[in-house]
Amino acid sequence: MLEIKKYTEFFVANWKMNGSINFIDNFLSKLVLNDINLENTCNIICPPSPYIQYVSKRLEGFYIGGQDCSIFEDGAYTGDVSASMLTDMNCNFCIVGHSERRKNFYETNEDVLNKASNCLQHGINPIICIGETLEQKKKNLTKEILSKQILESIPKNSNDNNSIIAYEPVWAIGTGLTPKLEEISEIHHFIKNEISGFKKFKVIYGGSVKSSNSRDILKLENVDGILIGGASLDVEDLNNILLCQ
Ligand code: PEP
Repeated sequence: MLEIKKYTEFFVANWKMNGSINFIDNFLSKLVLNDINLENTCNIICPPSPYIQYVSKRLEGFYIGGQDCSIFEDGAYTGDVSASMLTDMNCNFCIVGHSERRKNFYETNEDVLNKASNCLQHGINPIICIGETLEQKKKNLTKEILSKQILESIPKNSNDNNSIIAYEPVWAIGTGLTPKLEEISEIHHFIKNEISGFKKFKVIYGGSVKSSNSRDILKLENVDGILIGGASLDVEDLNNILLCQ
């Protein structure tokens, strides 16, 4: 299991269900790794499962992550990918509980907990996503929802050295909308200081991050990194984001 405490900044690129061999070849030929401080910075690319091995064999300076894993260990679960398979494919990380999974595949906090536990059991650092919908935000329920998601989705054996929390407001994902910087700060402060047991956890922000806003978000106190979806498919934009470390 990779010890993550030593890193001061995390960059997680989530390609979602995008890409092809052509796309990856072109992307990797243009990805710039110079000037990146690999001692303190943890860079992670999460390709779709079928391309994990292809990317991992061709990429230096980045860890590889899965975008999801099964709640099961193994067996008759057609289409699922287990945490132990991700370990076999050299994955160090796995995103669990992404809002697209929660919404489109009806994943519950309990499912996310099981997925994160499977990751930990197989030496994978889970990146556990939480976030409120716009409706919940408008009703002033953000903190209540986040507390519930944290308490119900994060395994007891998660700690600041093996798990990452990703705060991703659902309404900010893929929409071009982001919370105000003060709001991001406030929520990260809330997660670390007002929910007991998470003070030292790494908490990263995700939701419409691009090169034009990444620097300001990364400068915020209590923000330990960013999760980049759409913009991570644009290699020029990703290069610019990575260069702002
Ligand atoms: C994501 O996929 O988690 C994400 C934050 O997407 P985007 O950056 O496109 O909003």
